[in-house]
Amino acid sequence: MEVPFLDLKRQYQSIKNEVDDAISKVMESQHFILGDEVENFEKSVAKYCGAENAIGVASGTDAILLSLKALGIGTGDKVITSPFTFFATAGAIHNVGATPVFADIELDTYNIVPEKIEEILNKDSKDIKAVIPVHLYGQMADMQSILEIAEVYDLAVIEDAAQAIGTEYNGKKAGTLGDAGCFSFFPSKNLGGAGDGGMIVTNNDELADKIRTLRVHGSKQKYYHEVVGYNSRLDTLQAAILNKKLDYLDKWSGKRRANAEFYNNKLQWDGIETPFSAENRTHIYNQYTIRTKDRDNLMKFLNDNGIGAVVYYPLPLHLQPCFSYLGYEKGDLPNAERASEEVLSLPIFPELTQEEKTYVVERIMEFFNA
Ligand SMILES: *Cc1c(COP(=O)(O)O)cnc(C)c1O
Repeated sequence: MEVPFLDLKRQYQSIKNEVDDAISKVMESQHFILGDEVENFEKSVAKYCGAENAIGVASGTDAILLSLKALGIGTGDKVITSPFTFFATAGAIHNVGATPVFADIELDTYNIVPEKIEEILNKDSKDIKAVIPVHLYGQMADMQSILEIAEVYDLAVIEDAAQAIGTEYNGKKAGTLGDAGCFSFFPSKNLGGAGDGGMIVTNNDELADKIRTLRVHGSKQKYYHEVVGYNSRLDTLQAAILNKKLDYLDKWSGKRRANAEFYNNKLQWDGIETPFSAENRTHIYNQYTIRTKDRDNLMKFLNDNGIGAVVYYPLPLHLQPCFSYLGYEKGDLPNAERASEEVLSLPIFPELTQEEKTYVVERIMEFFNA
């Protein structure tokens, strides 16, 4: 039996007519840049999240980059973030000219620890202008504590919600708690496009206006430029497809949750840690990630048995060659390092069958002699 890690074809088959209609409508109009489709999708996402503004951009990476830029963060500034995230979080900080500062994660949710942020600020808060909590795997970081710290130190808060669209913290949707929230529509995200795409949500109208300007070369009126911006628009074609898919997002995330529950119930023995669900938070399981000391052997065993199992992420950001200039060493952020050695993500996509889930569980039990 083969169980793919992710099979997007099944999702497409289930909504093929709607998606194909949306695509052909855009093709008939031959209107490919911004326009009604993008505006409608922005409105849909703003409403879905309960945010005042939503701005479609070219990718999740650009969503972070443009948020930093619009908040005035650049050369000489420092931004605190998690070392255990997709590269783009820290890459965007670097690319606006600022310096990433890494605060270690907790091993239950894999998210940044507020006390570690405070430790850094207590030591030397000079030049630190913002914090980017990442809501890893689909569960939010401890936002209340982070917002309290940000208030004391006057930091901007940008949520990297690329893996967390629709997840909640005390009933509020990811992305709406900080100054800005960033989403990615990379195909493997819970709301995935047919290519790259991203969005920023914010309740700050002035910030939204700046981001809207930045995404079109810093111009409000065509060919007149107030600031130097970027070409970072969400494609009209992507917006049309994503707007259709948004209607199914909660249903799909619910199926991911049901799959996670199945795994959680079966994978209970010493030597394996199943995902932890923090109080007052929901989980949308962009990834279902377990932790075990025998990770590499388990991954090989599963892969050899036809099961897609993947490591997110094998090398924490503070140890990446490109960030060696920051001067971190192995041992500096022990939880992130341990996570990178022990995590393994299992197939969790919504269309997974009962047979497939059972096969995954049985092979894991076989490996552990459980
Ligand atoms: C996917 C992802 C991004 C980047 O999104 P892109 O759309 O691929 O640019 C940023 N941060 C996290 C945590 C992600 O998972």
